[in-house]
Amino acid sequence: ATQKETRGFQTEVSKLLHLMIHSLYSNPEIFLRELISNASDAADKLRFEALSQPQLLEGDSELKIWIDVDKDANTITLRDNGIGMSRQEVIDNLGTIARSGTSEFIKNLSGDQKKDAQLIGQFGVGFYSSFVVAERVEVLTRRAGLSAAEGVKWESGGEGEFSVESVEKTDRGTTIILHLRPTQTEFSDSFRLKNIIHKYAEHIAIPVCMHSENWKEDGEREVGDYEVVNKASALWTRPRNEISDDDYKAFYQHISHDFDEPLSWSHNKVEGNLEYTSLLYIPKRAPQDLYHRDGVRGLKLYVQRVFIMDDAEQFLPMYLRFAKGIVDSNDLPLNVSRELLQSGKVVDSMKSALTRRLLDMLTQMAENKPEDYAVCWAQFGQVLKEGVAEDHANQDKVLKLLRFASTHTTDSIQSVSLADYVGRMKEGQDKIYYITADSWTAASQSPHLEVFRKKGVEVLLLSDRLDEWLMSHLTQFEGKSFQHVAKGDLDLGKLSSEEDKQAEEKLQQESQSLVERLKKVLGDKVEAVKATQRLTDSPACLVRSQYDLGVALRQMLEASGQ
Ligand code: ADP
Ligand code: MG
Repeated sequence: ATQKETRGFQTEVSKLLHLMIHSLYSNPEIFLRELISNASDAADKLRFEALSQPQLLEGDSELKIWIDVDKDANTITLRDNGIGMSRQEVIDNLGTIARSGTSEFIKNLSGDQKKDAQLIGQFGVGFYSSFVVAERVEVLTRRAGLSAAEGVKWESGGEGEFSVESVEKTDRGTTIILHLRPTQTEFSDSFRLKNIIHKYAEHIAIPVCMHSENWKEDGEREVGDYEVVNKASALWTRPRNEISDDDYKAFYQHISHDFDEPLSWSHNKVEGNLEYTSLLYIPKRAPQDLYHRDGVRGLKLYVQRVFIMDDAEQFLPMYLRFAKGIVDSNDLPLNVSRELLQSGKVVDSMKSALTRRLLDMLTQMAENKPEDYAVCWAQFGQVLKEGVAEDHANQDKVLKLLRFASTHTTDSIQSVSLADYVGRMKEGQDKIYYITADSWTAASQSPHLEVFRKKGVEVLLLSDRLDEWLMSHLTQFEGKSFQHVAKGDLDLGKLSSEEDKQAEEKLQQESQSLVERLKKVLGDKVEAVKATQRLTDSPACLVRSQYDLGVALRQMLEASGQ
């Protein structure tokens, strides 16, 4: 061994390790899911690089994971023949937190152990979860293509420091040795491990092998050859009726780094002009970086079952960036690059088909599982709204997915669809009325609502940051136009009765001199002074002209320098 050096973990890693041990004590088994997932990723990466450099396979192209337990030594050893790591990669990958967002998130944790521990569960916990069960972890690895002398040994007790040294390693890939904590010896049991493999890794594409075991008649245990424990065929290539819900959920966790179960999924094989398989998931919770438009998004792309890339954002529009999943194409070339994906008929057609698929999933959820859709809207509604402007082809579908607060309900929960609203429209009502304000409270208490309340006409209460922008893109829904109740002249159309009209005439006559006086006093400060039937309780209110930009929109435009 040469060049042994000891290094400190990035501060966030130490923090993460500490929190993880506290947060995962009730679910320690997920370390195995994470390590198998990494080995499977390593196999994917090797297969991909070998497309252009076949020599990387070194004559050994059956990519697998082998797991051994040693009850006496209290260790678990996971070995793979995937891509492996160079010395620098070991230092970068196993000493820092590379994934975007996570590091930022950890920096901002509150310091409240219990709360933070719950939050951390939202993230893929990755390699460091080994320390939940192990008091010491050794990693031996050699990158494909490097010489045997360029092997690396990494070792750590998970407490602030790790060491790296160069070692001889003849076989390519990574071996991880977990020295179990005295409290976690249950994991040195091979039956326990096999159960966990069935649970979490049944349908990852790579075989997970363990020694077979037989009990001899005299009660002795006989250890046989390696056998494949899992089904080891990529989940999406199997027929739907052979896949259980638990399989789908486990696969979601494998690809999404999400600790939670998905809200829903859709698995489809498309044949004909275009051939591909897609497996799309809607998560239960928004990631931290949902509102960064350049945050991580997109699907995992496979071509003819070969992994090509993560986060292929070309297959879904921006406003569906919360969806996760995989797409496996038979039409794209194996050497497809991000640049090549930027344009092209195949990608375009797949994108519009996948977009429709996802919108259908959401529509069905809204119809058949409204409680699930409520969760979905609370998490992703603000992003879905972007679709109204972004996706004209599917605007009708997106409109049906929108949910609003309204005067029909008494709370701020956004639960009213445009279809609900239209269904409750009064005889003679031909517009969809709405109001925008800084908060739901301000909207729901606006004096502009008085006349609508009196007539029993529902008004949508909009108070999200994007709402004025959204309404500037909305012209009509099912032939009904939208009308801001605080803008322009109040025109209730056929909702006004004959008495209303007479009252209006009388009002205008009687208030003429008051209006004149107010105009004089207010001068340039207002565009106009008008007598109105808008109010029933309040004496006066401010009204914006029909074409005035909303306050929030004006602030947004000013902020962006327009
Ligand atoms: P993630 O898998 O989300 O990137 P992890 O903490 O699980 O995060 O792993 C960190 C990184 O360490 C991986 O991205 C990969 O580069 C490297 N790594 C982990 N395990 C292996 C392995 N078995 N073979 C090769 N590289 C690995
Ligand atoms: Mg991982």
